[in-house]
Amino acid sequence: MSAALGDTVEALNASFAGRAPLERLRLLRESVPGRIVFTTSLGIEDQMLTHLIFSEKLKIEVVTLDTGRLFPETYALWQETEDRYGRRIRAKYPQAEALETLVEDQGVNGFYFAPEMRKACCGVRKVEPLNRALAGASAWVAGLRRDQSANREGMDFVSADASRGLVKANPLFDWTRAEIAAFCTRNAVPVNALHAQGFLSIGCAPCTRAIRPGEPERAGRWWWEDETRRECGLHVDDPVAVSDTEERRAALAERSSF
Ligand code: SF4
Repeated sequence: MSAALGDTVEALNASFAGRAPLERLRLLRESVPGRIVFTTSLGIEDQMLTHLIFSEKLKIEVVTLDTGRLFPETYALWQETEDRYGRRIRAKYPQAEALETLVEDQGVNGFYFAPEMRKACCGVRKVEPLNRALAGASAWVAGLRRDQSANREGMDFVSADASRGLVKANPLFDWTRAEIAAFCTRNAVPVNALHAQGFLSIGCAPCTRAIRPGEPERAGRWWWEDETRRECGLHVDDPVAVSDTEERRAALAERSSF
């Protein structure tokens, strides 16, 4: 990490504390020259940030990663959001050839059969398009909250994404889900219809289920996997590295017998 990037992160972190999310976004925009990209999954946190960016006409690009496996409700919300704010949410898609190879290799739902196969799918459908979305950007805005999962407790408002050489900011990091839901209700921000059906964290349709009372918020994501292995690579320091492990080779061998 360069000294300049470290200094910017440190200064922003100190300034974010005690400010409202809109002030944080403005401060980020004033402090960091160049492109700033906000990646939205159209979850409730991201809808609040989209509202702030579009309503206040902040010069921050709003981009979503369309994996091709999203819920119909998510596509409906995407359209509704564009209609509400009169702005386009740009989309990044998986590269066709890589996707064809992935499905040829491990089948259309191969992610259920081994963690490495799931990571391979997230790598092609999410991480590679994310890398293209962030190429050349100076800062990345995301809607992570500290209390979403144990993985996120150790994160901060602002950090350095050293591998991409950019500032990563989470303006809602200290907000609770209830506070965000109240903001969205007060401001008539459109939210995903699935939230009311127990889907608190929403990703791809085959990899997300509703949670049961008392379960952690992200328990419905990749629910068939060991809890400690459940990040998709978008928000980890070492973006999904798909290794050709014995586990993956064995699972692939089993799947390629038909
Ligand atoms: S969440 Fe599931 S369907 Fe979506 S990219 Fe990851 S493994 Fe593939």
